[in-house]
Amino acid sequence: MSKLPNIGTSIFTIMSKMATEYNAINLSQGFPNFPVDERLTDIVAKLAKQNVHQYLPMSGYPPLLSKIAILVKNSYGRAIQPETELLITAGATQAIFTTIQALVETNDDVIILDPSYDCYEAPVLLCKANPVRVSLNDDYTPNWDRIEKACSWKTKMIIINNPHNPTGKILNGSDFKILELLLEKYPKITVLSDEVYEYITFDEKHISAHSREKLLNRCVMVSSFGKSFHVTGWKIGYLVAPEYLMKEIKKVHQFLVFSVNSICQVAISEYLDLVSVNEIGNFYQEKRNYFRQLLKESQFELMPCEGTYFQVVSYASISNKNDVDFCKWLIIEHGVAAIPISTFYADGKDLKLIRFCFAKDNDTLEAAAKRLCAIQ
Ligand code: PMP
Ligand code: GLN
Repeated sequence: MSKLPNIGTSIFTIMSKMATEYNAINLSQGFPNFPVDERLTDIVAKLAKQNVHQYLPMSGYPPLLSKIAILVKNSYGRAIQPETELLITAGATQAIFTTIQALVETNDDVIILDPSYDCYEAPVLLCKANPVRVSLNDDYTPNWDRIEKACSWKTKMIIINNPHNPTGKILNGSDFKILELLLEKYPKITVLSDEVYEYITFDEKHISAHSREKLLNRCVMVSSFGKSFHVTGWKIGYLVAPEYLMKEIKKVHQFLVFSVNSICQVAISEYLDLVSVNEIGNFYQEKRNYFRQLLKESQFELMPCEGTYFQVVSYASISNKNDVDFCKWLIIEHGVAAIPISTFYADGKDLKLIRFCFAKDNDTLEAAAKRLCAIQ
């Protein structure tokens, strides 16, 4: 008997493992390959010799909570109460799992928009609730008619991911207006807003759930320092929720992790005094532009990329293979690893699209692009 009979090994693990086996350039799993800011590693080295090795309070290191509240205020103008509305988590994955466990009940419906990142469905299934997958439009904007049709008295949660992994799409003001109207019709629905790439947007400014007055009392917002500070392996993030939801979320959190790694919390708290989150968007915008320019001469067709550190491309003019086989072929024959987009769809829809991660140093991007441009 399995509680999750249809859940297998994540595609990120599969492709990264294969990249290692074949010594390929790994643009598959999303993680940066450049060194972390020395100011941050210096703080960690200093802290390792200080007395910060024991449990911190369950919700988080109080100075870090206060600094996140200031960050949210400065970024979006929202005033949050650090003691009651903020929780430090072991990455966004734990924030999402904990929120779903705390708020979703047996037989509830949870709306997940396809294509979607892979960590939403399993926690819904573990609640004995129903993941209801609703496809985005072809241009990856939300199809609000379809979403509204999927809503009913059984719907407990809608999960949005903005900026969106894998497509790099961001939501606009009118998306939020429609969502807010929908929530008025369905007072039981909570929004889970996965904004781990909130500081990685390019030409348009990111609109956060934090900045939508009507959502504040209905929404759990999730962020990740792994993305914002290039430390995905630290597994540290946070969630913001109104107090009545946070009370329930904390009940699960205290038995899932109790409190998060102390050195990382203190280090990030000190680092927040030195760094501006605005630098991150500019940094990745340059990477995006450079990678796109490097691929211009290739046979791959570049899809728009408004945020995140992922570039989706079509290989339709190169091959008829399905996208999983194409990714395997790309690793074995051309030494570059990518992620097949079909794995982000519940029905495995194959659109001949793959995703590259451009959070890499320029030497790596150039070496990968050289191999990709050689494919005819
Ligand atoms: N949500 C999205 C959209 C992601 O891409 C990721 C992966 N990095 C996560 C959540 C999980 O973040 P974390 O590594 O902080 O758990
Ligand atoms: N979020 C990363 C990605 O989209 C994967 C993280 C993981 O492997 N769980 O590539």
